[in-house]
Amino acid sequence: MQNVEIIAVGSELLGVQRLDTNSLWLTDRLNQLGVEVVQKCVVGDDRVRLTAELKMALERTGVVILSGGLGPTEDDVTRDAVAAAVGRELVFSQTVCDSIEERFRKFGRKMAEINKRQAYVIDGAKVLENARGTAPGQWFENGAGRIIVLLPGPPHELKHVFTTAVEPRLMKLIPPKAIRALFFRVSGMGESDLDALISPIYKKYENPVTTILAGAGDIEVHLRARCDTALEAEALLNEVGPPIEELLGDRIYSRTGETMEEICGGLLRERGSRLCVAESATGGLLGSRITSVAGSSDYFDGGFLTYSDRMKSELLGVDAALLHEHTAVSEPVAIAMAEGARRRTGSSYALSITGEAGPESGSGQPVGVFYVGFASDAGSFAKRLQFPGDRARLRQFATQSALDILRRTILGLGQASTWAK
Ligand code: AMP
Ligand code: MG
Repeated sequence: MQNVEIIAVGSELLGVQRLDTNSLWLTDRLNQLGVEVVQKCVVGDDRVRLTAELKMALERTGVVILSGGLGPTEDDVTRDAVAAAVGRELVFSQTVCDSIEERFRKFGRKMAEINKRQAYVIDGAKVLENARGTAPGQWFENGAGRIIVLLPGPPHELKHVFTTAVEPRLMKLIPPKAIRALFFRVSGMGESDLDALISPIYKKYENPVTTILAGAGDIEVHLRARCDTALEAEALLNEVGPPIEELLGDRIYSRTGETMEEICGGLLRERGSRLCVAESATGGLLGSRITSVAGSSDYFDGGFLTYSDRMKSELLGVDAALLHEHTAVSEPVAIAMAEGARRRTGSSYALSITGEAGPESGSGQPVGVFYVGFASDAGSFAKRLQFPGDRARLRQFATQSALDILRRTILGLGQASTWAK
């Protein structure tokens, strides 16, 4: 067995009220065991639809893990749907009923009549004990390698039943494959440039599988090796990872998944340096990202949200003549904003952002043009950058680039960026 499908059952999972986190958790655990999740879906509390979906999943993949729908109420249809899909009866289990009753007694309550529904087991299925809740899981095997696993919906119960009862059973069935992964976060270049750079290496290999996930100014490169042993998987990553790492060089800002704001925070803290910001077009997003990191008061002094020219002059002391001559979206104004912020806070570093977030241009500069200013006691400078995308993406790009400029300055790296124009 190498592939499984997951079906998350529950009408609430179709809307915004509740996210299906169980399938994500299960996928992660299954991957660690060397099992691939090849397909998943969410089905509402509907017995007919669930039966149909389950039949197809069994046909396609043969091994299906279901989460949810094992409660005591009328809308909990998973037991019925599975029984219907495999043509088996549901059998009342006195043992399961007794243990549910016992659980209620332990908490000083009496079991309600409807909880007896949870004591029905698919004929031939093994009961997977659930010490965290009333509904036990079930493991059904039909002999032709087809397996259906029913797990309770509450995440803490699902995790418990999976870990204690499902994993040991799976381990006996799967060839001992191991999956190892390597992960880089990259800033300062676009997805297609990055791909052109590293694809000559990763295209040579089917294993590890390379995945590139692009965000605004933030790209994740994932390498996943799947081998018989952990040692082989690690050896494979050691062969493919370093050449890719060398090509990406100092554009890699994180190898363990930290965000850019966490990385910058760490650099500032290590050095005992402090930061302030002055924002125009990003309206506080930069300060928000910096302060989203717990403990940021150790190194962040604060920020100025100066949207109008008047506020740039009043709060930051940007010369009105400068604004008049160059407009707010310009290199001299970005520098003056950073210097002004630093003068007022006394921080070691100041970052400023001014730009055209669109959709209309107010300054005469093309939409997508931003200036990031930087000031420290070693001097100040500004970078002109131009990003693609809509307003939300542009603002994300601008804050990411500003933080990257800080990171590169602190580390004494050059200011190479694909976005510099
Ligand atoms: P159920 O077993 O369907 O009665 O679900 C019990 C509880 O677990 C409900 O609060 C559900 O919203 C929650 N739950 C069910 N399925 C999931 C899922 N896939 N991810 C996260 N929570 C879930
Ligand atoms: Mg439900």
